[in-house]
Amino acid sequence: MNARKKVAFCTLGCKLNFSETSTIARNFRDEGFDRVDFKEQADIYVINTCSVTENADKRFKTIVKQAQKVNPDAFVAAVGCYAQLKPKELAAVDGVDLVLGATEKFKITDYINDLSKNDFGEVHSCEIEDADFYVGSYSIGDRTRAFLKVQDGCDYKCTYCTIPLARGISRSDTMQSVLRNAKEISEKGIKEIVLTGVNIGDYGKGEFGNKKHEHTFLDLVSELDKVEGIERLRISSIEPNLLKNETIDLVSKSRAFVPHFHVPLQSGSDTLLKKMKRRYMSELYTDRVLKIKEVMPHACIGVDVIVGFPGETDEIFLETYNYLNELDISYLHVFTYSERDNTEAASFNDVVPKNIRAKRSKMLRGLSAKKRRAFYESQIGTEREVLFESENKEGYIHGFTENYVKVKSPWNPELLNTISKVNLTKIDDDGLVRFNFLD
Ligand code: SF4
Repeated sequence: MNARKKVAFCTLGCKLNFSETSTIARNFRDEGFDRVDFKEQADIYVINTCSVTENADKRFKTIVKQAQKVNPDAFVAAVGCYAQLKPKELAAVDGVDLVLGATEKFKITDYINDLSKNDFGEVHSCEIEDADFYVGSYSIGDRTRAFLKVQDGCDYKCTYCTIPLARGISRSDTMQSVLRNAKEISEKGIKEIVLTGVNIGDYGKGEFGNKKHEHTFLDLVSELDKVEGIERLRISSIEPNLLKNETIDLVSKSRAFVPHFHVPLQSGSDTLLKKMKRRYMSELYTDRVLKIKEVMPHACIGVDVIVGFPGETDEIFLETYNYLNELDISYLHVFTYSERDNTEAASFNDVVPKNIRAKRSKMLRGLSAKKRRAFYESQIGTEREVLFESENKEGYIHGFTENYVKVKSPWNPELLNTISKVNLTKIDDDGLVRFNFLD
């Protein structure tokens, strides 16, 4: 009898990619494959690529080499955003057998035949306009929390961004299907669901294959909060102009939504926000932060910011720095601007030299550490609920409070994937927070 085939996955990029890898992995399981770790011997290696990652091309080649080292005869397939944007480039990489675009990635098991290697990477790509249908997905079993995809694609035109070119127009899962998936996840014992997508604040658009909004993100939050059995719901990232005050109020009163908001800002300068074609000015962003802190003073607010965008003079950078320094936010995700093919910004003048970009990135990461420390200090002495992760990290178990404070405790396997009431006591030298159990 033929031994069951083995498949291994490597996922780059965002939570959405992780949720889609998990769904693709379930398709392989249904076809009789066993999933193994990427470091192990497999018959096929699937790489779910990202187009935002710095040096995506170098990263991809390294990962292919890694797979080939473990099993030179293995079949190597590439899917994801980078595969959609640069299919021929990926197919030309030594060892790659298959490259699938946005419309084909979920049908990968139809393309693998007998897993014999191809002389040259076979490409099944598409025009991104064809990727106008929605495929649901959620991650399970990979981590303590599940990433639930509720929306895909984006209709915005931010001048630095390739995502609409890689993922297509904004479209959403049906409310019914989201609620069903959420229920399914909670019935598998997962305590926390993270809502993910490309522009989830635009939820509802394209739910029934048209441009209309049958439901809104507010409806989605309200309906999900009613689903019994789900202990925690976390909003992954939401555009400031789509984070309505009603949604903030609903989260503050909700049963399961946690007080943690990740809201991309990109720049504190209105001049640059215009050049980026973002759909808000800094005043609106400030209003959102003030509103959140008004109704949830203990809420955690994370901010995406880009440094080194064309036209970012020293004055404009300082404007962003001071703006963030004054804002009551909790941490930053700092992205160093890098030119992307086929984006409007790639042809902008006033290019910022790479060394200046790196210097500014360092400054903002320093500010982020300061903000996170101040936020953690503000939580010492408060009572919180911790969801414990699933790994033994050098004799410690880690976890996150509902408002995204990272804690640690001596390793205890009974705590795995449980939620406990705690009192936060102090910040350790490594920046993680210690606590006493309350129950
Ligand atoms: S909102 Fe802007 S940055 Fe975000 S995915 Fe859409 S185009 Fe890209």
